Amino acid sequence: MKAKAVSPPEETAVTGLDPDKPREECGVFGVYGRGLDVARITYYGLYALQHRGQESAGIATSDGKQVLLHKGMGLVPEVFGREKIDRLAGHIAIGHVRYSTTGSSQTINAQPLVFRYARGTIGLAHNGNITNVWDLRSQLASTGSVFQSTTDSEVIVNLIARYSQNTLEEALAKCMIDVKGAYSLLIITEDSLIAVRDPYGFRPLSLGRLGDGYVVASESCALDAVGAKKMRDVEPGETLIIDQEGVRSMRALSPRRKAHCIFEYIYFARPDSEMDGFQVNRVRREMGRQLAREYPVDVDLVIPVPDSGTTAARGYAEESGIPFEEGLMKNRYIGRTFIQPSQDTRDMGVKLKLNPMRYLLEGKRVLMVDDSLVRGTTSSKIVRMLKDAGVKEVYLCLSSPPVIKSCYYGIDTSNEDELVAAHMPVSQIQSMIGVDGLYYLSLDGLLGIFGQYRDNFCTACFDGKYPVEITKPKEAGKYALE
Ligand code: SF4
Repeated sequence: MKAKAVSPPEETAVTGLDPDKPREECGVFGVYGRGLDVARITYYGLYALQHRGQESAGIATSDGKQVLLHKGMGLVPEVFGREKIDRLAGHIAIGHVRYSTTGSSQTINAQPLVFRYARGTIGLAHNGNITNVWDLRSQLASTGSVFQSTTDSEVIVNLIARYSQNTLEEALAKCMIDVKGAYSLLIITEDSLIAVRDPYGFRPLSLGRLGDGYVVASESCALDAVGAKKMRDVEPGETLIIDQEGVRSMRALSPRRKAHCIFEYIYFARPDSEMDGFQVNRVRREMGRQLAREYPVDVDLVIPVPDSGTTAARGYAEESGIPFEEGLMKNRYIGRTFIQPSQDTRDMGVKLKLNPMRYLLEGKRVLMVDDSLVRGTTSSKIVRMLKDAGVKEVYLCLSSPPVIKSCYYGIDTSNEDELVAAHMPVSQIQSMIGVDGLYYLSLDGLLGIFGQYRDNFCTACFDGKYPVEITKPKEAGKYALE
């Protein structure tokens, strides 16, 4: 089915997203079940995963004979209307919401990617980043592969086609040996749904039961949204094949050390999700408690930067006994097509999104909690707003350690030269933002929350210890993705 692009009008820009936050990667959702309205279920599942990607959305379905596809630019409800969903017939579906971490933001890069090869038609939805993409792309291109998009996911598609003399299961096992980095994949064939998680388990992936059918989703909140019951997480390095025989599990690679992205717990995942044995809300609240233990600041109020700092701020307030207040009111109706403020109205952007509750804050010493600081630009505007509202002292507590390195595993944390903590000591950042105190959660304190599982996480953006090597393009620019 031909995808129709829905682009924002020219005079608008994607500024409803906070430019001072790392960007979520992608979300995937899949369902297998005869008698289930799989396209509609996937639509609702993607709705629940919308926080993971707002640039494009797509659904592919199969009725056992053919794979149908609709995808486009925009939010889930912008891409899909009732008629589009009704046309996606079948008993198998996969869906994808995307924020581009590699490849530019255009319809050709929207997923699922659907292609025909020697063994039939398959579609692929990918969350994560492949770290040896340049090597693979260059090898494939030099032996005749053609690429339509600029996404790293298309490399997986080409590898599957390259191994078409093997069964799909064998081809996937070979792909897992070739491909390095982060991938939680959903694959649809004419008669099966396949879920694959990389051996380190960077990005989350959950399996659930819905009636007699099965659902796989990036986060358990999407299973809840469609009434599915979570069975378990897809294990790192595991491939699940779901077809009329039920669910089969296979492993192409021996287990590695686990390296779940710890930023999922700090910021990306929805607080009502549970992943790899931990409730996100509980972990986030514990981060706030740990902050209070590490930094017992003498203030009158604890306030969050909504919504990213809310749960940790509650934790800080609970541990410290200092009253919690929602001191900043968030306008929840600012979307991705918010008109970019001009030079004269630049500060209005933040003021429209957040408004301080003057009557609560005036004359008070306030501790503000947020999840992370990337460039520091938004935080300094919020602090100025609070001081203009009469706040006497503002302290900023962050529920993450300083972000000093870029992520290569599917999160856009900005380039290293844009990361304020990579270049400035805390004292300098503190004066740049204009706060009376700036406190980062220690890495040890953060990992301590996970107890005996503390070594199961990737922390590379805080300590530079990358679990999987990053290969750079050999011929600069030639195969590099945008
Ligand atoms: Fe997550 Fe940071 Fe590791 Fe990227 S580098 S996977 S953002 S912990």
